[in-house]
Amino acid sequence: MTQALIDQLSDTRLLKSQAYIGGDWVDANSGATFDVVDPATQMVIANVADLGAEQTSQAIEIADKAMREWRAQPAKLRCEVLERWHQLIIENTEDLAIIMSAEQGKTLIESRGEIGYSASFIKWFAEEGKRIYGDVIPHAQNDRRAITIKQAIGVVAAITPWNFPSAMITRKVGPALAVGCSVVLKPAAETPLSALALAELAQRAGLPAGLLNIVPGTDAVAIGGELTSNPKVKKLTFTGSTPVGKLLMGQCASTVKRTSMELGGNAPVIIFDDADLDLVMPGIINAKFRNSGQTCISANRIFVQKGIRQAFIERLSAAASTFNFGSYTKTESTHGPLITQTAVNNVDAKVKKAVSEGAKVVCGADPKDSQGYFYPATILTDLNDSMNIFNEEIFGPVAAIFDFDTEQQAIDMSNDTPFGLAAYIYTESMRRSWRVSEALEYGMVGINETAISAEIVPFGGVKESGQGREGSKYGLDDYLEIKYICFGSIDK
Ligand code: NAP
Repeated sequence: MTQALIDQLSDTRLLKSQAYIGGDWVDANSGATFDVVDPATQMVIANVADLGAEQTSQAIEIADKAMREWRAQPAKLRCEVLERWHQLIIENTEDLAIIMSAEQGKTLIESRGEIGYSASFIKWFAEEGKRIYGDVIPHAQNDRRAITIKQAIGVVAAITPWNFPSAMITRKVGPALAVGCSVVLKPAAETPLSALALAELAQRAGLPAGLLNIVPGTDAVAIGGELTSNPKVKKLTFTGSTPVGKLLMGQCASTVKRTSMELGGNAPVIIFDDADLDLVMPGIINAKFRNSGQTCISANRIFVQKGIRQAFIERLSAAASTFNFGSYTKTESTHGPLITQTAVNNVDAKVKKAVSEGAKVVCGADPKDSQGYFYPATILTDLNDSMNIFNEEIFGPVAAIFDFDTEQQAIDMSNDTPFGLAAYIYTESMRRSWRVSEALEYGMVGINETAISAEIVPFGGVKESGQGREGSKYGLDDYLEIKYICFGSIDK
């Protein structure tokens, strides 16, 4: 660990470089480690144990044993452990935020927000875990009774991305542990420190050994191969890109594992002529530039009706000119870097392609050679649905603005994508809000609001954006099996 990072923390024991398996902190059997880099400075901040398939298999074996005892416990006991974990996450918010910003790049304000959001899933599922009800089904035959109970699915494998290094973990681990499952989790190679810090706090909260196992590593194919083929794993929960999600679903088929998939998006924002620009501007700035555009529900295609177009572009470019991209350590930074140089190159290639196809650059589009993986706030106009950028997840601070004339045209363009995660509408018309929400082929729709995620609501997509829902009362379902029990001959 770098001294500079250690010096920022109140509790340096939250900085872990070893894997967490069976309640022990362990090195890779091979002794290998990998670098974790601060994307704002390109400095190596930690060397973390680089595990492979063999230790993943050991973790699954341990998780399987631990789960058998855990699922037999009363829900109340399991949920008390989660309550303590939640409390510890809240108490350590500042240190966890610093660790997150150091490895992921987002500003401290954003990291603090994510830690609160992340903790909320542990608290929510600690409460929901006590409410796993079954049914008594009226039977057609008088001497029979039919009931259903819900039981923990078993060992859960989880694979998570770097863009929300804490919340994408707790949305999965919270419900899994609450219902009696155990977890083997591979965090993204860019952001293992947030995952390991969460594990340290789970240990302090009294979570029994073997229920949460963190397997960091750079060989995602080997670790993922074991997680998806080992018959002891009963379910895979994945958040990441659609191509990797499809691959993992295929791999899970050989042992018929349950899967839930939170995949990529291509979110439309439809801004109608009657929209209130005072509502639109903070909403768009949040949805487009939060985490420097690296979120799955980012405003990817901004459809603006022609009457409001000019005013909108002027206000957006004025807002973008105030952004200050920099390290989380600088108080003046309003936005962080992208995660890697590859990410910068990818965003730049998408912008250049759009420009070659006729896009107009209002601002940005000119990354400077600098320390850190920064890309400037960029606004593109004069776009249309035949351009590449219409179909791609941009994953950077690039606002892609398309014009439209009619409501039907906006709906058709919005749905013209294989993705279906989040969509947003800005209008003052109640009737139109209903009509358009119902016509949009998306798992989530925000009306005059883009900050739509919370632990209490079902987050998830349709089409190639995934399957399953995280958060809300539905978030437990993916970790439960329904068992039907028939009582026969009860009148004997
Ligand atoms: P990614 O490349 O798919 O990686 C996600 C995770 O999968 C990482 O842990 C990665 O490990 C692992 N992985 C990659 N290839 C693998 C393989 N062959 N086998 C097993 N695991 C593998 O996605 P990303 O670039 O990190 O994340 C961005 C994507 O996630 C975007 O498309 C975004 O929309 C999506 N996302 C969706 C949601 C949602 O809720 N729907 C939320 C956040 C992000 P390594 O890090 O070691 O490569």
